[in-house]
Amino acid sequence: MEDQNIKGFRLLIVEDEDDIAQLMRFNLEEEGFLVTVSNNGMEALGKIERNIPDAMILDLMLPGLNGLEILKKIRAKYDFPVVMVTARSAETDAVLGLELGADDYIRKPFSPRELVARVKAVFRRKAPPRETAQGTISRGQIEMDLSAHRVKIKGQEADLTMIEYKLLQLLMENTDIAFSRDKLLDRVWGREVYVSDRAVDVNIKRLRSKLGIEKERLETVRGVGYRFRG
Ligand code: CA
Repeated sequence: MEDQNIKGFRLLIVEDEDDIAQLMRFNLEEEGFLVTVSNNGMEALGKIERNIPDAMILDLMLPGLNGLEILKKIRAKYDFPVVMVTARSAETDAVLGLELGADDYIRKPFSPRELVARVKAVFRRKAPPRETAQGTISRGQIEMDLSAHRVKIKGQEADLTMIEYKLLQLLMENTDIAFSRDKLLDRVWGREVYVSDRAVDVNIKRLRSKLGIEKERLETVRGVGYRFRG
């Protein structure tokens, strides 16, 4: 059954065994995920560079670049949730993977139901806390009052456009997480609107100048996009 909370989330599956990959795809698409499958590590990394997924399922036993190596490369740059798939006997791999920053793991053989439950759980854990939607978020001298739709910098009200406001809220709610320009376009402008990457840079620049003494917190992540430093 489709879950409205995850509908449209992009999931990358990295799995070299085609029958398992297709089984995963079938069950996750049924839940409403947009699924892409890659059967090797190098190809997966290329795909991520072009289009950062919202989450990834990563088989550890892959030809060529193995799953742990892929995970290490991903975690150097990205923070999206990763669920590893391990062989039943490979306990040490699972532990190593968690230390390298994977969010969870699932052992083969797994039931489709277990797979779906794990992936959804990881999403729930990583999602920004819902209660902030009504309250305030403060970092340093910046205070966002979400119910009044107001932003204050060092006690002084700042005049932000709707886009600047949404950008700031997203980044502040996900402190220390790097967002690609593509992802910011999706989350702030919305998927249906055609806007170029340039719009992100322009709005970040304006937002920085409005943040004044706190502008350093809006960091550029080279080759990726932007992040709010906590
Ligand atoms: Ca495999």
